[in-house]
Amino acid sequence: MKIIDVNVLKFHAVSEVVRDSEFHVHPGPRHDTVEKVLVIKCDDGTEGIAFGPMDERVILSTVKEILIGEDPFFRERIWRRLVQLQRLRRNLTEDTLCAVDVAIWDICGKKLNMPVSKILGQYRETVPAYASIMVGDDIPGGLDTPSSYAAFASKLVKQGYKAIKLHTWMPPIVPEPSVKMDLEAARKVREEVGEDITLLMDPYHFYSREEALELADGLHSLGFLWMEEPLDEHSMENYIWLQKNTKLHICGPETIEGKMYSRADWIRHNAADIGRAGVIYSGGITSVMKTVHLYEANGMSLELHGNHIASLHILGAMGIDGKFYERGMLHPLLDYETPKPWFTKIHDPLLSDGTVPVPTESGVGYSPNWDYINDNLL
Ligand code: MG
Repeated sequence: MKIIDVNVLKFHAVSEVVRDSEFHVHPGPRHDTVEKVLVIKCDDGTEGIAFGPMDERVILSTVKEILIGEDPFFRERIWRRLVQLQRLRRNLTEDTLCAVDVAIWDICGKKLNMPVSKILGQYRETVPAYASIMVGDDIPGGLDTPSSYAAFASKLVKQGYKAIKLHTWMPPIVPEPSVKMDLEAARKVREEVGEDITLLMDPYHFYSREEALELADGLHSLGFLWMEEPLDEHSMENYIWLQKNTKLHICGPETIEGKMYSRADWIRHNAADIGRAGVIYSGGITSVMKTVHLYEANGMSLELHGNHIASLHILGAMGIDGKFYERGMLHPLLDYETPKPWFTKIHDPLLSDGTVPVPTESGVGYSPNWDYINDNLL
């Protein structure tokens, strides 16, 4: 089996989500946008696809050259060649590597007629989800006050969620992020949902040590399970310090470079209680699975970042060392439950017990609406 073609289809789409100057997403006016799907074709007619962020220029030059003629089952060889290229091909980013890796896994699953989770070695069929609430805003009826978070949390619990994560206020929405306001939102939500709902926080990422510690201790007293990224993750020393000084579990690193290598350093130095990695920032399923086994071998949990469909396969192959699927981002004024027009269904339906099923289709399990995509090609 050989790869014979690599292409990126770009198509018109409409979005009701806008990014602020810090790249956080919020509800906004409907506007035109462009989506992409990577398509990798094999000589036997099997096609692997991947949606999401990617740089088509580097895919259609460097990556294509490596993939053509390669056997897609040599995933490890393909992945290592691409990772080594990242050293000098700086535009071969983690999200592009992720798209390529996911499409390759999709080919393998389709060829074997089994979902990726089964190739990885399935452990469970459903995964508990947490509702990942968007970053705070100043939209009336949105996420503008601590009380708005509480009102939204109440709706999410009624929907079936057993766990909720709060992203609080950050620039440019607030010029000065405030530990006091974060804790007020945390307190209001805890009062609203009671003791039985698991609560998590992902606050402003550039607090000082003192601010991060004050927030961590406050969240611990409110019974939160973990906090992510209150300090710049490039300083591991900051996290070692925070970890030593608070009883709250700290989960990370999420956004730093280095895939499983940087995670190994964080484990070795006790910089966080719970690990973190995601397919988009850590180069796909192949590298995240290496990270999964690394944490398992060290007796630690690893929580996956992001709502990528590939996360569900990885979580399907993990035990309780990966507690939750991150479902969202959610906002009181946005509908998460209706599929985008370029899909025929959502990939992560929430079941009434607060879990999400691991996809059972062959491959990754995307459900593209090819009519929409082909009608809207750029
Ligand atoms: Mg995070």
